[in-house]
Amino acid sequence: MSIRVIARQSRLSQLQVQEVMARFPDVDYRLETLSSYGDRHQQISLLNGEAPADMFTRELDEALIDGRADIAVHSAKDLPYPLDERLEVVALFPPFDQSDSLVSRDHLTLNQLPACSRVGTSSPMRRRELLDLRPDLTIVGIRGCIEERVRQVRDGEIDAAIVATCALKRLGLEDEISEVLPFETHPLQGYLAITTLKGRTDLKALFERDDVLHRQGHVTLVGFGPGDPELLTVKAVKALEQADIIFYDDLIDKAYLDNLSAEKFYVGKRSGQHHAEQTAINKLLLNAAREGQQVVRLKGGDPMVFGHAGEEIEYLESNLVSVSVIPGITTASALAATTKVSLTQRGISSSVSLVNGHAATPIVPDTDTIVYYMGGSRLGGIRESLLSEGWSATTPVLLVHNVSLPDQQTFETTVGQLGSTDYPTPVIALVGDVARLRHQAASTVCRTLYTGLVCPHPDYIHTPLIEIEPVSYAVPAAKSYDYLLFTSRYAVKHWKGGFNRRIVSIGSTTTQALKEAGAVEVEQTEQDDSYGVIDYFRSRPRGRVLIPRSSLALDIIPDGLREMGFQVLTLTVYNNRYPHHVRRVNLDNIQRVVFTSPSTIDNFIKTYNDLPDHIEYVTRGSITAQHLKSRQNEKIQNIQNGPGHTG
Ligand code: SAH
Repeated sequence: MSIRVIARQSRLSQLQVQEVMARFPDVDYRLETLSSYGDRHQQISLLNGEAPADMFTRELDEALIDGRADIAVHSAKDLPYPLDERLEVVALFPPFDQSDSLVSRDHLTLNQLPACSRVGTSSPMRRRELLDLRPDLTIVGIRGCIEERVRQVRDGEIDAAIVATCALKRLGLEDEISEVLPFETHPLQGYLAITTLKGRTDLKALFERDDVLHRQGHVTLVGFGPGDPELLTVKAVKALEQADIIFYDDLIDKAYLDNLSAEKFYVGKRSGQHHAEQTAINKLLLNAAREGQQVVRLKGGDPMVFGHAGEEIEYLESNLVSVSVIPGITTASALAATTKVSLTQRGISSSVSLVNGHAATPIVPDTDTIVYYMGGSRLGGIRESLLSEGWSATTPVLLVHNVSLPDQQTFETTVGQLGSTDYPTPVIALVGDVARLRHQAASTVCRTLYTGLVCPHPDYIHTPLIEIEPVSYAVPAAKSYDYLLFTSRYAVKHWKGGFNRRIVSIGSTTTQALKEAGAVEVEQTEQDDSYGVIDYFRSRPRGRVLIPRSSLALDIIPDGLREMGFQVLTLTVYNNRYPHHVRRVNLDNIQRVVFTSPSTIDNFIKTYNDLPDHIEYVTRGSITAQHLKSRQNEKIQNIQNGPGHTG
């Protein structure tokens, strides 16, 4: 079978077909050429944004759609975005040179060109680069094939032209190059693309063999939600765990990111969202995907709400990188959840709008409820806008700082009062009568900080104060012990030996972990702490007890067992350490702290340098309780001894 190839008529275009097909020497093909709309309308300038996006592809697209050709070969840069939905790019081939060159009379370099020289280009990007280096130059829009542009320079119609180096080389015109320019060029410059009708899997399979598209990575825009990692979607967690590299913004939990194996790259914009920064982010995403990495672009809230997602999607897709989006909980939804104020409510609010509050004059859509994002520094402007649109000064407003985070704060005010007080940022503002319907708000619910690894209650604020890391150790031979004692589920998790001795467990979670790990017969102590373990062994035959445990385990159990005549062998199977990253919270907002082990207490003091008196401390197990007592006594003594004796 001979493949019917379609391309534009220019010599360059035909050489490009040869270049592509040379990669597939076993493929027999026939080339047909035609002139595109852009070829026939040389008066259309590419510099002013008026050119139709498909001006160089329309006729070729039609030939594919009508079945007159199997594949079209294009300069990838010329493909319209989005592509006609009946077509697809099945292969992309990188250029041997991506630079721009200057073609000038007498081979003058850019610096040598006389003031006010006329330089031809058809690309707005090149015009910008040129004027950056030589603001005095006159930029002239040029069209036509490369040979024609070179002729215009030779004949003095213009003084110089900017041309893609690879086009000159393809045409054998490298002698015309006066200087290779240091310009940043279009990401697809020089790339050649094959398009076909969608669904031509035969052609895709044929050309994919040598293509860069399927070696490229994929970019996923992921919403992190308002801040609390527990508000991530299951899908988001999967994408984060599978990512090679994560580009993340402000307001995203560092401690959570630290636990992911991907490389992390901060691209937040602490203040103001500048175009240049967005451009730089776009390029980082593109380059990472081109290197074949699975890329996650992680954004606060939902990526599609004030998240610049549209810009990133367009940039990546128009440069032939595939993109998908995983939604997140937008701050307005999280605000509604935490204050228990419904954004809509029968009889009061049947519409809600999400508004950029950062604008010079924030807009006031005609909805019953309005949520202003990014309005922290513009509250006065929001008040003026609302009043001038006829909103009553007494309309209630709820402002929430750090929604869903441990130090979240809620403020109640009215439209008329907006702007008279400053609030901490980030802050989000809900305006509307629904705010009058206050329920038992989360801020009045007891605020409990949980310091253990696995948090038992969804309303607790979970900031683990221990971290577990595996250690390498030699597993003792089973014949060297009679009992195998587990005092935590983590010991079970990190135990690499078998379970063919008498297995003793300290409590139900450990027992469950043992069962899951394959232990068949497990004996559980009656009381789930060290004293329970000692009691258990009191009536058991004396023998050798192996205790796989953490690096920080206390010696209460081994000492107790030895006293009763057991031989005890302890084995560190995991390290219990201070976490790599601790999320510190504002303790003023905390009413209760739960400690799950002595080390959580030590690490709490290490983190906050205090055991504040206004907090109620709850402990798991008598050993932890004793440890708390002793650290509290220490604090009292330090106070009695005066300053300078802390910790
Ligand atoms: N894509 C995000 C919004 C980004 S704009 C979303 O869907 O929520 C940034 C603005 O969002 C901030 O200025 C602030 O108004 C709001 N915001 C984001 N996170 C917040 C939080 N945890 N608490 C309060 N406001 C927050």
